[in-house]
Amino acid sequence: MTIQSNVSLKALHTFGINVQARQLATFQDQDSLAEILAAYPDGHRLILGGGSNILFTQDFDGLVLKNEVMGIETIAEDDNYVYIKVGAGENWHRFVQHCIRQDLGGVENLSLIPGCVGASPMQNIGAYGMEIKEVFQELEAYHLGDGALQAFSLNDCAFGYRESVFKNKCKDQFVILNVTFRLRRAPIFNTTYGAIEQELERMGVKDLSVKAISDAVINIRSSKLPDPAKIGNAGSFFKNPVVSAAAFAKLSAAHPGMPAYPAEQEPYLSSVSGDQGEAEDVAGDAGAPMKLAAGWLIEQCGWKGYRKGDAGVHERQALVLVNYGNATGKEIYDLSQEILESVQKKFGVTLEREVNII
Ligand SMILES: Cc1cc2nc3c(=O)[nH]c(=O)nc-3n(C[C@H](O)[C@H](O)[C@H](O)COP(=O)(O)OP(=O)(O)OC[C@H]3O[C@@H](n4cnc5c(N)ncnc54)[C@H](O)[C@@H]3O)c2cc1C
Repeated sequence: MTIQSNVSLKALHTFGINVQARQLATFQDQDSLAEILAAYPDGHRLILGGGSNILFTQDFDGLVLKNEVMGIETIAEDDNYVYIKVGAGENWHRFVQHCIRQDLGGVENLSLIPGCVGASPMQNIGAYGMEIKEVFQELEAYHLGDGALQAFSLNDCAFGYRESVFKNKCKDQFVILNVTFRLRRAPIFNTTYGAIEQELERMGVKDLSVKAISDAVINIRSSKLPDPAKIGNAGSFFKNPVVSAAAFAKLSAAHPGMPAYPAEQEPYLSSVSGDQGEAEDVAGDAGAPMKLAAGWLIEQCGWKGYRKGDAGVHERQALVLVNYGNATGKEIYDLSQEILESVQKKFGVTLEREVNII
C-alpha cells in the first residue's frame, strides 16, 4: 500500500487545474481499498476515475482514492446477449472497443466518452441517443461505512438523465468496483441521432455495423469536441434543462427558433456540438416535458468564445467551459455562475451543473 502526501492533481483530471491532494492512494481491488481505508478511517475522501467530470475549486484536504480495478471478462452468454463484467478502473472507450471487436451491440454510440467504467453509472453516461442504462445489468460497490460489498440492479440504480442513486440517496457512500453490461448479439442500430447518418454516408458505408457506427461517432466527436489533452475541459458543463410543455410553449413564442426535444430523448451531443441544426424544434406530445439545449441558451446570451484570463467558453461549443492553461477552478466556477445567472435573467430557465464541483 502506497499513500502519497501533498500530490498535484493537475495531470489526474481533464480540466488540468493546479490543485493538490493531502493524500493520494491507488487501489486495485476490494482488499487494497479496505487496507487503505483501515489506515485512513476518517476525513474527506474522493473516488477518482479519469477525472473527466470534475472541477476542483480548491486543494483537496483529504484522501483521493484512485480507482485502478482492472479486467474485462465475459461471465455469461445466452442466445441473445453476452454479459461482460468490467473493472471500474478500465477506460470506458477501451471497453467499447472490446465490444466492437466482438461485433456486440449496445455501446457503439457511446464511443470515445472519456473516463473510466466505474464512473459511467454515476451519471448514466449518454450520447447520440443511447445511455448506459440500456445495457446495464448490475454493479458491485463497496460501502464506505461498513465495508460490505453490495450489488445494485438496474432498478436500484434509479437512472435518469445524467442521474443515478449514487448522485442522490447514496451520494459519497459507495465505491463502485465493477459493472456488468448486457450486450446484444444482434445489434439494434441507432443512427437517427445527430449527424451519424450524414457521417456514415460521407464514409461511404454500405453495410451498417457496430464498427461503422462507432467510427462515425468517433469522427464526429473528434471534429466537434475539444480534446482535453490540448485544452482543459470536462465536456458539457451544464445539463440540458427540462421544462414543462406549457413553459416551452411560452418560451418558444418569446424566442422563435428555440431548439427543444421531447425530454425522453438523449440530447448530449446535439447540444454540445454547437451545431444547432441538429436540434429539432418540435412541440412534442401535449403535456410532455421538453428538454432545452443548454448550449443554445448560453450562446444566445453571448458567451460563446468568451475568455477572461485563462477561463473561457469554447469558441465552437458554448456548453463546454475551458481552461486555456492556468485558470483556477474558482475562476471557472465563477464564470459558470455568471453564465447561469445570465441564462436565468434572459430566459427564466435555471441551468444545473453536470460537472461535479469539488
Ligand atoms: C471531452 C469530453 C466529452 C464528454 N462527453 C460526454 C458524453 O458524451 N456523455 C456523458 O455522459 N459524459 C461525457 N463527458 C463527461 C465524462 O466523460 C463522464 O461523466 C465520465 O463517465 C466520467 O468518468 P471519469 O472516470 O472521468 O469520472 P471522474 O471525473 O473521475 O468522476 C466523476 C464522479 O464520479 C465519482 N466516481 C468516479 N469513479 C467512481 C467509482 N468507481 N465509485 C464511486 N464514485 C466514482 C467521482 O467521485 C466523481 O464524483 C465528457 C467529458 C469530456 C472531458
